[in-house]
Amino acid sequence: MITNTQLQRFPTKEQESKYQAICHAAKNKQKEKYPAPVDPEKRLGYAVVGLGKLTLEELLPALSICKYSKLAALVSGDGDKARKVAQQYGIPNTGIYNYQNFDDIKNNPEVDVVYIVLPNSMHHEFTIRAAKAGKHVLCEKPMANTVKECEEMITACQKADRKLMIAYRIQYEAYNALIKQWTREEKYGKVKIIEVYNGQNLPGPNVWRAKKSLGGGGALPDIGIYCLNTIRYLLGEEPTSVLAHSFSTPGDARFREVEESMLFQLTFPSGALAMCGTSYGTHMAKSYKIYADEGYYGLDPAFSYSGLQMHVSEQLDTKIELKQMPTIREEDQFAVEMDHFSECIACDKQPYTPGEEGLQDMKIIEAIYQSAYEGRIIKLDYYTEQDVFRGTDPIY
Ligand code: NAD
Repeated sequence: MITNTQLQRFPTKEQESKYQAICHAAKNKQKEKYPAPVDPEKRLGYAVVGLGKLTLEELLPALSICKYSKLAALVSGDGDKARKVAQQYGIPNTGIYNYQNFDDIKNNPEVDVVYIVLPNSMHHEFTIRAAKAGKHVLCEKPMANTVKECEEMITACQKADRKLMIAYRIQYEAYNALIKQWTREEKYGKVKIIEVYNGQNLPGPNVWRAKKSLGGGGALPDIGIYCLNTIRYLLGEEPTSVLAHSFSTPGDARFREVEESMLFQLTFPSGALAMCGTSYGTHMAKSYKIYADEGYYGLDPAFSYSGLQMHVSEQLDTKIELKQMPTIREEDQFAVEMDHFSECIACDKQPYTPGEEGLQDMKIIEAIYQSAYEGRIIKLDYYTEQDVFRGTDPIY
């Protein structure tokens, strides 16, 4: 007897035809000057779970300009809001779900992917439910609140034969990709030190980000993860040890449950050292600088949705030249990211940032907390290969 799960493993005829169209377009992408989007009926349908700030301000507009992906359903705890948004984006009432009837999404053939954009503690539950419903899963960062949860999410997607990708948008962004290329090819020599900071002010104590049970922690898993994940991406290496310090201003109601600031140092097999800072109690700043033998280079801002700026300082003969680099044509990071996932589903490729990439960050985050708590260096697993946890490179 064929079970429900086995049936989900094989795409329907309609899905096959979508996959072929997307895969064909993706293969020709680099050959064409103006690559055409695939027909809207052949794009993969996304159900977005959680209609908060990121969804409303970034993801829904991004889905409108995707080439292989489109909005197909909305999942929200607020029915009025969902109906209003559905009307704005032309989604029928049959494409609106709440957290209770979410599992019925298995019967909606318009939905290929579930994109989870909920508070961090809910990523685990909704990933598992989405996989059981036979849908591929794109999950916001941080993947979950614990290593155990991340492992269970990976297992659930493997069991259901569904793909799982973590939405690390920086790994789909062109400036960061160029910096990665320079770093890997040692354009300015061997990397010695990296300085990276991501900070902002938490608006108040009554937001989910200030509750440990929802956020999993404070600045570290929410915004400090950009420092960690981006350095791992740029170097392609995994840190071998971590030393961390944290501080929360006494009496500040925002930091009763979660940390305000975290500083952590990472060591890498190549000898590169990283100094990372993150805080929920400073003016917004998002930048990094990479110091190598013959120059330094970086981005400021580095992690914004747009307007990234590159700075380079290099040694020319005996002179040091400081320059701000020309700009690159920016693409919507979220659209590139979602189309990469659609392409991976259609062409059966491992996403560049699969669940394993999110799990590795969570292992390091747990070690950072342990180091700050115990006041000592924590050793991490040693990997000699590059890009151990990454899948297929996105094509720009
Ligand atoms: P938000 O507070 O704006 O939205 C959260 C949504 O979850 C809201 O619609 C809210 O109603 C819903 N929700 C359901 N249960 C809830 C509960 N118990 N408490 C609070 N809200 C609940 O948050 P956001 O900024 O959109 O963040 C959502 C996720 O996206 C987080 O995991 C965050 O880390 C991630 N994020 C990623 C980026 C990025 O650049 N990739 C940027 C911002 C946020």
